Amino acid sequence: MQHNLFVYNTLTRKKEKFEPIHPNLVGMYVCGPTVYSDVHLGNCRTFVSFDLIFRYLLHLGYKVRYVRNITDAGHLEGDNDEGDDKFAKKAKLLQLEPMEIVQKYTLGFHDVLQMFNTLPPSIEPTATGHISEQIEMVQQIIENGYAYEVNGTVYFDVDKYVKEHNYTILTNRNLEDMLNNTRELGGQDEKRGRLDFALWIKAKPEHIMRWPAPWSVGFPGWHIECSAMSRKYLGDQFDIHGGGMDLAATHHTNEIAQSEACNHVQPAKYWMHTNMLTVNGARMSKSAGNGFLPGELFTGDHPLLERGYSPMAVRFFMLQAHYRSTLDFSNEALDAAEKGYKRLMTAISLLDKITPAAKTKIDVDLEDVRNRCYAAMDDDFNSPILIAELFEMVRLINSIYDGKQQVNVATLAQIKQLMHDFVVEIMGLKDDQMAGDSLHIDGLMDLIIGIRNEAKQNKDFATSDRIRQELSSIGIQLKDSKDGTLWNKI
Ligand code: AMP
Ligand code: ZN
Repeated sequence: MQHNLFVYNTLTRKKEKFEPIHPNLVGMYVCGPTVYSDVHLGNCRTFVSFDLIFRYLLHLGYKVRYVRNITDAGHLEGDNDEGDDKFAKKAKLLQLEPMEIVQKYTLGFHDVLQMFNTLPPSIEPTATGHISEQIEMVQQIIENGYAYEVNGTVYFDVDKYVKEHNYTILTNRNLEDMLNNTRELGGQDEKRGRLDFALWIKAKPEHIMRWPAPWSVGFPGWHIECSAMSRKYLGDQFDIHGGGMDLAATHHTNEIAQSEACNHVQPAKYWMHTNMLTVNGARMSKSAGNGFLPGELFTGDHPLLERGYSPMAVRFFMLQAHYRSTLDFSNEALDAAEKGYKRLMTAISLLDKITPAAKTKIDVDLEDVRNRCYAAMDDDFNSPILIAELFEMVRLINSIYDGKQQVNVATLAQIKQLMHDFVVEIMGLKDDQMAGDSLHIDGLMDLIIGIRNEAKQNKDFATSDRIRQELSSIGIQLKDSKDGTLWNKI
């Protein structure tokens, strides 16, 4: 099938045919987490959305270089350039080295994304590992006349930039409105223009994370980090730049300005933004305090949660909404998603139990379903439509299993392949390991206890004792009671 993938480009505000700059190769940069605290479920939604996009591009046969950074320096409180370094602040509070904070939350981030079964990016660069690239870029921007230094801090000259460029190209906002809405901040009078932002910041004495640069001992601004790392690994111009919608107005707007001022080209051809996960309509965020952690969601240990949900049920919940729609969290929505996820997984497991017939007699055209699944994904990665198509397959599989329709070996293999491609490979869903494991263990223990009981009845005490001892040596204790044999882990 010929693929006609269309993606919504924030830059042009329309769906465009996806044509990578270099045929068959895709360069994709996604803004990663700021690792000074645990990632919340909202952050995970963005990374799961880009995982779906990454997986689909791979499925289509593109060679994808997916770069997702770790922000481990210089991200200041708020969107302005005032305030403390988040890492230094937390480090001081906990009496830790800033790098201990970074290590702890980077590992936590990886653990969580692994639970959600996301594929690792091709490169995961850190801001602290790319200070020299950032300094070099700031230097080039100064040389090109778009930045100036005051007292060791370097600012991007937005006033100069807007004379030749469209600064608000990404969001189409009115510059006058932006100026009127930007507060005059204390201690910022060294900036020439109200919208100017820092590229390099001179460290105050209390700042722990600091590096020598031509202008001062200091640290990089947040925006320059992504411009420098995307340029290093993907070139001056690459295919997709992504992140949450909340980043478009400031972070990505400034990234475009920096890259244009440095390289004289738009950095990315397609800008893709994921919508927010909300709680009672309000954006989930670290600062609003409504951000529960994935771990709390899995255990159910949070006042907003009635019970826990497995990572795969939550991934399914996220994929049931299109990435550009908001997704509101509720227990009811998660309950419904869990049921849907289980129906899908049960149908896949039934496929192994179906005995093929000599001939196929089904009321569905499988080629048609496959084409409709591709059409859903080709239409800006529309996972909710894809899921609806797959439920048509669930109905078919159940009906075959119940003996109402029949398939031969070849058709059964075709159905298995279709479910594998779209559910496992593209949507990244798998049978919940935890639930699956405990089910298997319960079944195996029933079997072993049954064999031991038989041995005892046959007065084969050598075998029954051996079973007890060998289970004990691997940490499982058997307890005989009048209700039967119970077991527990020691
Ligand atoms: P941060 O660690 O705050 O820089 O955020 C990491 C990523 O998560 C960014 O791409 C944000 O846009 C995204 N993000 C933050 N809050 C939410 C939310 N409530 N829903 C979806 N994505 C979010
Ligand atoms: Zn970024």
